[in-house]
Amino acid sequence: MKFDPQCAKCPGKYCCSAPMEKLKKDVPPDYCPMRTSAETIEKSIGRYQDAAVKGMYIPAAITEKEAYQVVRGVRMAVRPRIKELIEFGKLLGIKKIGIAFCAGLRDEAARLTNFLEGQSFEVASAICKCGGVDKTMLGVDKQFKIGDPEKFEAACNPVLQAELLNKAGTEINVIVGLCIGHDMLFTLNSKAPVTTLIVKDRLLGHNPVIGLYSAYYRGIIESQRRNMK
Ligand code: SF4
Repeated sequence: MKFDPQCAKCPGKYCCSAPMEKLKKDVPPDYCPMRTSAETIEKSIGRYQDAAVKGMYIPAAITEKEAYQVVRGVRMAVRPRIKELIEFGKLLGIKKIGIAFCAGLRDEAARLTNFLEGQSFEVASAICKCGGVDKTMLGVDKQFKIGDPEKFEAACNPVLQAELLNKAGTEINVIVGLCIGHDMLFTLNSKAPVTTLIVKDRLLGHNPVIGLYSAYYRGIIESQRRNMK
């Protein structure tokens, strides 16, 4: 029987406390990859010998470790993600960082640029609307414009953002508030590895986790999508 991994439904997160051989065989649920996919787990471990994987994984582990400190006897998080980005970049030996940002977060992109340049990184940045191309030029029907369908409405162009940063030779790229879908297209077209500093959430101040906790948003989230046809 085939089981897809369903770790989000696992009652125990047993993998966090012990390797499979130390667990009673039937303790992890049927869908647990430690029961269904031992060979895949084994193969994945081998991948960490690849220079490219190792070269990023070890700095990531160091960055994770350094994100904590014992303060008055309590292990606490001590770094915001921007600081982690800076320290991770230094551990990787990165010289040039790209920023792909949403026009609505230009101020945040400028602030991030200042922080990174202040830490001696070279920074290249590309706004989503770069190119000034009307949405219809990229195949969007005018009925899907946000404003007046008969007027010019600049399209986000994540493929161009990626190509500009590829051309600039950035070594890692940072997403600042790209729209959902545009962020994926950017990532697919970026030569450099991509991390997200700010994920766009127009309603929740770019903090989508609130939508998981507050009942005020449940009705919106659970409402049915209209038929596209
Ligand atoms: S790997 Fe297994 S034990 Fe760990 S969270 Fe997934 S299902 Fe649970």
